[in-house]
Amino acid sequence: MKIREDVAQLLRAGHSDRGIARQLGVHRDQVIKARRALGIPAVPTHPRPRPVEEVFQARVEEVDGGHLKWTGFRNERGTPVVKHRVQGVLRNETAYRVAWRFGHTREPEGLVLPGCGYEQCVAPGHMEDRVMRAAYTAIFGEAA
Ligand SMILES: [Zn+2]
Repeated sequence: MKIREDVAQLLRAGHSDRGIARQLGVHRDQVIKARRALGIPAVPTHPRPRPVEEVFQARVEEVDGGHLKWTGFRNERGTPVVKHRVQGVLRNETAYRVAWRFGHTREPEGLVLPGCGYEQCVAPGHMEDRVMRAAYTAIFGEAA
């Protein structure tokens, strides 16, 4: 088969079938045929999974007082949830738990909740786990 030189060039440069078809105004099937004829492997159509930091950052909004407001998905209880892939497995975690990891070096124990008083804050430095709450209670007694 005859392969257009511009198609071949973009294929060799690693462009996707869809991208080439759009850029050159040719039919996608033509690009796919050319790809096969040239023996160039297909470019994965799914973009690489975004790291959780990126997913998280795209869904927060800074508010006064250094708090972070969650603008992303919430579960049926209204809890901020982050959906992200860990080694190919889709995981649902509370944004609190994800935020915790950005601000601490150890894994959280028990429930992670904001301890700053701003409702549903997801600022990493404002997260508290069971261990921290227990420590505060030991120092200050049972507060509100
Ligand atoms: Zn806060």
